[in-house]
Amino acid sequence: MKTFKFKIPPKTTALLKKIGQLADERGEAAYAVGGFVRDLFLRRPGVDIDITVEGDGLTFAEKLAKITGSEVEAFTRFGTSIVVIPGFGKVDVATARTESYDHPGALPSVKKGGIIQDLYRRDFTLNAMALSLSPGYFLKLLDPFGGLGDLKRGRIRALHPKSFEDDPTRLFRAVRFEQRFGKRIEEKTERWLLSSVKGNYIQKVSGERLRNELRLIFQEPRPEKAVWRLDELGVLPHIHSALGVSAAAKKDLPHVAPAIGFFHKNKMVLEEERMVWFQTLLLSPGEKEAASLSKRLMLSRVEQNIVSQSAKAYPAFLKELSEKDLTASQMYKLLCPLRPEVQCFLMAAASPLLRKKLASYFVKIQKSVPWVRGKDLQTMGIPPGFRYSFILLEALNGQLDGKFKNRPQALEWVKKTFVS
Ligand code: ATP
Repeated sequence: MKTFKFKIPPKTTALLKKIGQLADERGEAAYAVGGFVRDLFLRRPGVDIDITVEGDGLTFAEKLAKITGSEVEAFTRFGTSIVVIPGFGKVDVATARTESYDHPGALPSVKKGGIIQDLYRRDFTLNAMALSLSPGYFLKLLDPFGGLGDLKRGRIRALHPKSFEDDPTRLFRAVRFEQRFGKRIEEKTERWLLSSVKGNYIQKVSGERLRNELRLIFQEPRPEKAVWRLDELGVLPHIHSALGVSAAAKKDLPHVAPAIGFFHKNKMVLEEERMVWFQTLLLSPGEKEAASLSKRLMLSRVEQNIVSQSAKAYPAFLKELSEKDLTASQMYKLLCPLRPEVQCFLMAAASPLLRKKLASYFVKIQKSVPWVRGKDLQTMGIPPGFRYSFILLEALNGQLDGKFKNRPQALEWVKKTFVS
């Protein structure tokens, strides 16, 4: 086992030593594993630490929480505990285990095992390395499947031919890591991946897990590259027939990040930013198809709303916006009912000319504080009632279209038009 010199912050080293010591005292062995080890070699250390204990991970986590004055926050069904250490971050503590799959796409059945078995159940060699934390072997590398060599050669390599059949979510992970680290899925691994796609194993994965994988992809810094790759590997239609990357979407993809950037810059909130990306995968589904897609991916209410609005607005609204020379108030009528995520996607999918028009429209809307308010109508003696919303909208429309130059003019117009 080789020891490496890593750039680890002193307080992390101290914690790792403490963990190794604690395991030693309990007659167990602890290892840092997974993404934490990979990211050390990539010199992009994260804050969260993954620990595997050859022993009893659950009581180990409780003890660790006690000696660090922290709390065990959660237990997962695989016997993983999360210890949240104040001022530090999260430490995931798991018992070393082996896994078997009752059927493809199912969650695995787990049994206690040794560290090598634990590494073998992992997705890719670059995630299947461990650093010993035992006092005598501190930071010595355990790399039984050649993860470090693959990392240096830039390869994402699965551990065995059935890897993607056992757990098809790994193909999303492969694409995610490939794009994030600028690596390439190794040739044989790609063949295994493609054969699992052809075998339609994705269909056996629950909607919740698929949705989660897509969300993770859309959280990466360059989701467009992963979208290209998922398309190239033929993955999307196996999730649902309403998904794919159309020729139009290929053109739109490079404009999504700038459109999101524009929304941020102008303080227009995108509550579900990932859903702007998701819309690039929609093959203009009809109402029924959109509903079936939402059901398959177990989308939240807000996400379902975005999918159905997008299906209605794209490309129909873009066509209307480009063909008719709409005034600001007409644009408002068309776009205002849409969620910001859909408005943002339309901006990305618009022609350069229309994109410019939309940009100035959004800025104008954002800056527009309505000059006429309900209180003003009351002062004018207009009896409160449903007429209010109509009058206020008309006044706002006039304001957007430049019918009046300031608040006094707007009030004057309301008085003339609505007070008899
Ligand atoms: P990220 O940087 O995106 O968080 P990560 O590698 O830390 O990446 P996690 O999802 O936190 O990813 O998983 C931690 C470790 O658990 C991985 O490094 C990998 O070894 C293992 N793992 C996670 N998901 C799977 C899976 N579907 N199949 C096999 N091993 C997995």
